[in-house]
Amino acid sequence: MYYNNDTFIYWNGKIIKASEAKIDLYSETMHYGYGVFEGIRSYKIIDGGTKIFKEVEHFERLKNSARALNLPYEWNSEELIAATYEILKLNNIQDAYIRPLVYAPANMSFSVNNESFIVIETWQMQPFLGEKLLNVMTSSFERPNPKAFKIEAKATGHYVNSILASQEAKAKGFDEALLKDMQGYVAEAPGANIFMEKDGALVTPQLGNILPGITRATVFEICNELNIPVIEKQITLAELHEADSAFFCGTAAEIIGIATLDKIPFKKDWNDSLGSIIQKEYKDLVTGKTKKEQLEAAN
Ligand code: PMP
Repeated sequence: MYYNNDTFIYWNGKIIKASEAKIDLYSETMHYGYGVFEGIRSYKIIDGGTKIFKEVEHFERLKNSARALNLPYEWNSEELIAATYEILKLNNIQDAYIRPLVYAPANMSFSVNNESFIVIETWQMQPFLGEKLLNVMTSSFERPNPKAFKIEAKATGHYVNSILASQEAKAKGFDEALLKDMQGYVAEAPGANIFMEKDGALVTPQLGNILPGITRATVFEICNELNIPVIEKQITLAELHEADSAFFCGTAAEIIGIATLDKIPFKKDWNDSLGSIIQKEYKDLVTGKTKKEQLEAAN
């Protein structure tokens, strides 16, 4: 599903076949979840070309995640971006999910390593569908305590928490989980940030207990452009249940509306929500539509 015998990856400065790469079974990343990664997407844009969305932001976050965990990181973003375009071309994919992973050598001692390794994998993603709405449950799992983890880093080990929450929600018949932070405020989904709509404004949890999402930042940019007020604050579950509408946002999820939370439907029809406006704008943005082309398409 992710690769076959013809798939290329970028691996420590070289482009090789995915089937030829090896990982050390004594790697500290395998044993302790001590590594960092990114989730990036590329899109077939309207001129027919391929564009990686917010590529600089993602590779900078990868570097910052590595530094936060004391993982040696010697790569520069420009080189990694060029290598990613090259493997996308070799793999003949335009609508791709791109997964860079920085991992540790053999080490069981918890000491700082002298080197790290990097792999960049790509696989086909379906282009934006956007119609489905989610039924979400509040998880019995909290997000990791930011005093126990570098929560702003996209670290492999954090995702055990995401897996537990997502599996619990699916086992109970929901599409996805919503996790609270250690203080009991709304935090985020296992792999996405959350916004709610209340009285004509968007509201989202402030940074500190969540991953600083690049899509979240993009939603702020869109709101700025469209003059939609957006507020960062601590949100209680009761406030969220009372919201007019809500959506998750993330590189993989893009902008996806939530129909119900804990079986309680949101008041507004998704098509009348601010989220639905943001969803359309986001789609245009990732596929490289200019404002002029958007206006022409609307007329
Ligand atoms: N929170 C978590 C826990 C995530 O895994 C992700 C996906 N990377 C996000 C939020 C959204 O981040 P982004 O918009 O940068 O993909």
